[in-house]
Amino acid sequence: MKHLFFGGIHPNDRKELSAGSDLVADLKPAQVTISMSQHIGVPCQPLVAVGDLVKKGQKIGDGEGLCVPVHASVSGKVIAVEKRRHPGGNEVMAVVIENDYQDTQDTTMVPYGDYSNLENDEIISIIREAGIVGMGGATFSTNIKVSSSENKVDTVIANACECEPYITADDVLLRTHPEHVLEGMKIIRQVLKPERMVLAVEDNKKDAIKILKDKIDKEEGIELSVLPTRYPQGAEKQLIQAVTGREVESGQLPASVGCAVFNAATFAAVYKAVCLGQPVTERIVTVTGEGVKNPGNYAAPIGISFAELVDKSGGLTDDVWKVISGGPMMGTAQKDLEASIVKGTNSILCLSQAQNGETENPVCIRCGKCLTVCPMRLEPLYMYCYEKAEDVAGLEQKHVLDCIECGCCAYACPGKLPLVESFRNGKRMVREGQNK
Ligand code: SF4
Ligand code: SF4
Repeated sequence: MKHLFFGGIHPNDRKELSAGSDLVADLKPAQVTISMSQHIGVPCQPLVAVGDLVKKGQKIGDGEGLCVPVHASVSGKVIAVEKRRHPGGNEVMAVVIENDYQDTQDTTMVPYGDYSNLENDEIISIIREAGIVGMGGATFSTNIKVSSSENKVDTVIANACECEPYITADDVLLRTHPEHVLEGMKIIRQVLKPERMVLAVEDNKKDAIKILKDKIDKEEGIELSVLPTRYPQGAEKQLIQAVTGREVESGQLPASVGCAVFNAATFAAVYKAVCLGQPVTERIVTVTGEGVKNPGNYAAPIGISFAELVDKSGGLTDDVWKVISGGPMMGTAQKDLEASIVKGTNSILCLSQAQNGETENPVCIRCGKCLTVCPMRLEPLYMYCYEKAEDVAGLEQKHVLDCIECGCCAYACPGKLPLVESFRNGKRMVREGQNK
């Protein structure tokens, strides 16, 4: 049975721009820039120095605490260890490797074709050593999510909704390598032993659904849940409600209602780590939008530059307006194409002037539309006023910290108010107040 979450919107998804393209693999960048900050938590410390020779898959950064390692995505020579532009907009420590085109493989990680005899701790350790994080963009460390879900969940959901407009990275993964996702689900099922294992996908991915139906018919104990397309269905709390009918309360985690959610690409990464002994050295990236000449999907080495992927897609159009890392609703605008791909980069979106919806004098006309679309049942218009007035108590009272920055309110707002930017700032103000 399917359930509805409150609010949400139905934007024109524009997925047709890249959905039909094949997955382009075997990219050979001349150099890669591997960021030491690719997950939520403590950044890695570089384990290599300028002049070192590295193999593909070799661990080149790691750290203590809430940290997972990063690995070289090509073999070659380290030519710089310095701060470089991150897709998030800041400058962070990175290791730059010049490709020797030899593809020499590191063999530290052991492949377990048959993982059935592995203990939970061993699987969780493999997941950590492979540097797996939430590949849908959340980038929370997967080993922590799995270990903190042990003995607490009865439902595990593979999130293949990919509800943000334009992006087709998970779609192409499901079409080209569904068995990777399903095998990863079976590995996590072995650890968490849930009663339900659900692969959730939105009904706009017709080809992927057809392929999955054929595959899942042959699997025992994995359900396919085809959900009506609606943004932000892929947000964790909304997806749990859509699949199970359970509501995760404010400030609570999915485990509080017996659920754990992992992105489909995260399951594929778990399969590659456990069965093939491969750490995360590449991810699927959609390069799309009206502002790029030939949209497509790429199996991109971690650390390849935005500029190189855009170039492979025919380059920017003359009327390009904005380049975004991620989707149009939750992505981060880029100053230029200098940043490089990190594990959480699912898309490079290039919008043209025709998509420029900004206005010089945004004004609230008190229409109330933002109230009807907010999936968290917040009151965006009041939160906006409190943020403008720097009223931290008012922001707290309106639960600004519950805002998932989905952008539904901004999409629906006829006054074109910069609501999401305002709430990001409002959340920062509240957190600073709490820290004091
Ligand atoms: S951005 Fe925040 S306030 Fe706006 S709709 Fe999404 S959750 Fe609600
Ligand atoms: S949708 Fe925009 S204009 Fe309408 S009440 Fe909300 S903030 Fe104001």
